[in-house]
Amino acid sequence: MSKSFYKYNPDTLSYDKVYPSVWQRVWSIFRQLFLGILIGGILFAVADYSLDSPIKQQLKKENKLLLTQYQILSKQLDQNEQILSELEDRDDNLYRGVFNAEPIPSSIRKPGFGGTNRYEHLLTMNNADLVIAITAKLDMMTKQLAVQSNSYDELTEMVKTKEERIKNMPSIMPLSPKQSKGIGSGFGLRVHPIFGDRRAHTGVDINAASGTPIHATGNGVVESAGWENGYGYTVVINHGFGYKTRYGHCRELKVRAGQKVTRGLLIATVGSTGTATGNHVHYEVIVNGQYDNPAKYCFMNLTPKEYEQMLFDSENR
Ligand SMILES: [Zn+2]
Repeated sequence: MSKSFYKYNPDTLSYDKVYPSVWQRVWSIFRQLFLGILIGGILFAVADYSLDSPIKQQLKKENKLLLTQYQILSKQLDQNEQILSELEDRDDNLYRGVFNAEPIPSSIRKPGFGGTNRYEHLLTMNNADLVIAITAKLDMMTKQLAVQSNSYDELTEMVKTKEERIKNMPSIMPLSPKQSKGIGSGFGLRVHPIFGDRRAHTGVDINAASGTPIHATGNGVVESAGWENGYGYTVVINHGFGYKTRYGHCRELKVRAGQKVTRGLLIATVGSTGTATGNHVHYEVIVNGQYDNPAKYCFMNLTPKEYEQMLFDSENR
């Protein structure tokens, strides 16, 4: 059954049946469709512009919250950065100082990331500046923390060797202060008591009665114990860490080469063997192959006053 339309005819004053062509009908449908879409579109645009959808409203709310949250994070990062830099400062100037370790240079603590912008992918974001600033802060902090953590590992290692170093370092007088009769000859240039010329004295001569016990001044291994030209019966101890000590003109040796010794152990007795004018121990401290003033290494069994006196006496004037 085909659809029919009626059209008013003013001439006959009646309705005539009209049969539209296919083309007319298609055009009519198309026109109505177009109008529908147009009106719908206008209505949607107006609604979209003036009213937010619930999802849009939710997103806007979240965006606002995120921005606030980012600002809070940024402030917290600043505070953490402050704490970290205080830790670094303490590390460089206190902890590392205690172990004579160099401070870590700031080029290592705060390295530049250099080159291309590594945050380019974030540039399209709203609030890109804030997001990039926070990301950059976090990246820097991650590096700083890694450096700090390494430094603490290093310190732990130093603490371990420091203990051993303290035990090995020569740090007492080789003779009991009560039995010592004072410094006969100090460290440095002096007129040689036997040869009569000015020459460097490589140790200190501590006077004491013959047979007075001589003690190892730090832990170590006996490097040699025997006769040395000029020094007579002599003990040399290697303390490791670059330290050696020599005890010359002994009357009697109590240790053998290769023997492990601990600080305070009896290693020999005072005598006047070799080229000596009287009973004394010729005591040397050798640091990395260089003779040093032994008085600097005699602080442990002396009172501060005795130590000051010893330093004073040990210098050749
Ligand atoms: Zn001497």
